[in-house]
Amino acid sequence: MTSTRRSFFAALVALVSVAVSAGAQRPSPDLVVLISLDQFRADYLQRFRPYFGSNGFNLLLGRGAVFSDCHHRHALTNTGPGHAVMLTGTFANTNGIIENDWIDRNTLRPTNCVSDPSVEIIGRATAAQKPEGRSPRNLNVTTVGDEFKLARGGKPKVIGIANKDRAAILMSGHLADAAYFMQEGSFVTSTYYMKQVPTWVAAWNQEGKARSYFGKVWDRILPVSAYDIQGPDDMEGEYTGGGLGRTFPKTITGGENKPGSAFYASLGSTPFASELLADFAKAAVMHENLGKRGTTDILCLGFSAPDAIGHSYGPNSHEVMDNAVRTDRILGELFEFLEGWVGLNRCTIILTADHGAPPMPEYLRATGRDIPTGRMRFRDAARAEEEALNARFGPLADKGPWLVNYGLIQPSALTEKNLDPKEVQTVMRDAALKLPWVEAAYTRSQLERGDVNDSLGRQALLSFNRERSGDLMVLVKPYFFQRDVGVSHGSPYNYDTHVPLLWYGVGVPRGEHTERVGVDDLAPTLSHLLGIPAPPKANGRVLF
Ligand SMILES: [Zn+2]
Repeated sequence: MTSTRRSFFAALVALVSVAVSAGAQRPSPDLVVLISLDQFRADYLQRFRPYFGSNGFNLLLGRGAVFSDCHHRHALTNTGPGHAVMLTGTFANTNGIIENDWIDRNTLRPTNCVSDPSVEIIGRATAAQKPEGRSPRNLNVTTVGDEFKLARGGKPKVIGIANKDRAAILMSGHLADAAYFMQEGSFVTSTYYMKQVPTWVAAWNQEGKARSYFGKVWDRILPVSAYDIQGPDDMEGEYTGGGLGRTFPKTITGGENKPGSAFYASLGSTPFASELLADFAKAAVMHENLGKRGTTDILCLGFSAPDAIGHSYGPNSHEVMDNAVRTDRILGELFEFLEGWVGLNRCTIILTADHGAPPMPEYLRATGRDIPTGRMRFRDAARAEEEALNARFGPLADKGPWLVNYGLIQPSALTEKNLDPKEVQTVMRDAALKLPWVEAAYTRSQLERGDVNDSLGRQALLSFNRERSGDLMVLVKPYFFQRDVGVSHGSPYNYDTHVPLLWYGVGVPRGEHTERVGVDDLAPTLSHLLGIPAPPKANGRVLF
């Protein structure tokens, strides 16, 4: 070897060692915990902060990286799509999770975002009826967990746990070791992940922890006067079913004499469902030895109770406030557990949400002023579109409907009338646009061409998937939604898109960031922190 070459290699080695030492300054955590709070608005963190303890939300808010203007960027802000963004960094246009449920364009049958007829649910304590199988098969892209396992020879464990199947499955991804979700008081999983549940899961279910909440009373944890910031406990428009009523205290039986489906549904609409989730998560950490395996493990936790409670009572209710305060206590205990198990200084914790929620129309009307608001029904759009289609093209031979629903044309109608789908879509759109609650409507052919030039249209494009979306996308006006009681989300507006994004722990510089960021920035940022490439189609940017 010539001296020139030797010096070249020496220089290279020197460069490499500089690079290595720079890299070594970015330590990796032993455990990553992603916490998703379903339907948890970003402003709850500020509104309820005076009532939080020091070791729950305040641990992250006070000692972490706080992104106070984080939004979902897509139009249809529902649970499946929101959870699909978190660790893929992609939207429905790419990842395929357009909604929680949609109509399959080929079979015209309803499909759930995590349904999979080729697998079965396992682990249920009761097997009264056989539930439909669940897996990430409909998720068209990989997650950070998938990429991390690929990059580390499969060594890291990736586990998703949530009250809802779609949260557990869509956060954790295709190569996850397990996704556990609640059915009738048990944490179950699918044969997609394993042949039978681990003994610790069976043991947890057999203990009957969920059942032990039968007859338990949910009352406000703080002095009643603290809830005055939310207005009165008893509000017109709140949900009265489920045996929980509009006011505190609430006895959790679901109106049943012994624990059954109605009881478990009611339990899911209380903060106790989050206690159960945290308890199961701790069991998973201990039995799977997460964070102590000589690599980095990833645990994704989806707390779904805030969504059920929010849907029933709205963001300005005593129930939502009490749930936020109790969730803070539950997170505090979880963080204390992690401190004792592996040390918080060995963890990276991320907290976000799949969407927010609007106020109840009744709450807005109680101001006595005239803020436009209301409860709408998509079937009114279907009716208006049917009328317009009949008027324009004449009725179908069997006088049957043109549409499967307001957004999907019957393929047989197109064949019978030999029509260009574009023409039919335009008639549907124009009819929908005449409805008082419709803000915007986009036809399939318009979205396929990317023919939009406003911000709502750009949000709509991210929710539009060629293979799965319908023929018309209708966006409601602000403060309008489809639900007869309580509230519903799913709009492109700030109250639905603005969510928390908090980072804490290993690799996270402390500080508050007020610039606009997206939930789709989470995946590239975590990938950077773990030292792996972001999922192939991930959007977004590295936040720190
Ligand atoms: Zn949700």
